[in-house]
Amino acid sequence: MYYPEPIAKLIDAFTHLPGIGPKTAARLAFHVLRMKDDDVVDFAKALVSVKRNLHYCSICCNITDTDPCRICQDKSRDPSTICVVQESRDLVAMERTKEFDGYYHVLQGAISPMEGIGPEEIRLKELLNRLGDERVKELILATNPNIEGEATAMYISRLIKPFGIRVTRIAHGLPVGGDLEYADEVTLSKALEGRREIN
Ligand SMILES: [Zn+2]
Repeated sequence: MYYPEPIAKLIDAFTHLPGIGPKTAARLAFHVLRMKDDDVVDFAKALVSVKRNLHYCSICCNITDTDPCRICQDKSRDPSTICVVQESRDLVAMERTKEFDGYYHVLQGAISPMEGIGPEEIRLKELLNRLGDERVKELILATNPNIEGEATAMYISRLIKPFGIRVTRIAHGLPVGGDLEYADEVTLSKALEGRREIN
């Protein structure tokens, strides 16, 4: 009510972003006000484009602007291994290690009874569909080393058991309670290398 409506609206929009309180939101909004016209237009276009031009890969559920995504299209990768991660950002972290040359499956979340997120809410059905491919020999569960990530890994390992596929969990050189995407490449490589059978 203290600001003209356009800026109040922008401040309000920024407060909906994670980790942005009202003070930061106001600072960002006034920063936008001082930006060059072209830069503001580019920024707005990038926001719209991320929603309009991205969708989920019909194979691995990663976000992509092509379908299948570039990784699923890459025939040089090893089809015997699928690395299961929670978010697209985790896939990027894994790719940065350059240690993994199989394919991925992005769950787009984790099972969390506390937040009411059940197995149906994440991309598990799509994962099961992929296991009909006889070339798949190992599933590496690279969900986050926190309660939700562990619960999700346990759930998947039980679900996969009847398929007779090897299920491994990445090792815990990773900080417990942390997010995969923030792990450095060396830690993540070691975690991948030290993975263990869980069923
Ligand atoms: Zn894909």
